[in-house]
Amino acid sequence: MTKRFKKSELKRYEQMLLKEREKILKELQYEGNQITQTQQDASGDLSAYSNHMADMGSETERREITSQILSTRRDMLLQIEYALKKINTGNYGICERCGKPIAKRRLKFMPQARLCIKCSKVLGR
Ligand SMILES: [Zn+2]
Repeated sequence: MTKRFKKSELKRYEQMLLKEREKILKELQYEGNQITQTQQDASGDLSAYSNHMADMGSETERREITSQILSTRRDMLLQIEYALKKINTGNYGICERCGKPIAKRRLKFMPQARLCIKCSKVLGR
């Protein structure tokens, strides 16, 4: 196990990740409530529902966008969980492709980064 980070540094990344995770969890919860709300509205009053048929297109679109946002958030959440796990196992901040250290200034912007800048450009993510 390489001693790349000081304990205090790791702690700081961990804090950043935990904070970010909390933020996303809150957003997910909020969006989840919105969806439930919409579904209740739709199944509630049938006559009102048919009057709204003209709006169906934009409603469907809105839901699609929401579910896209949700899946992006969930994806982010998985990456954060993964990074937290790596802090615990001691291989945090190491590029998964080339095995070289990820630049600290990159980790400051993206504490959940799994690839160094070079590899992320090569892989396009
Ligand atoms: Zn790399």
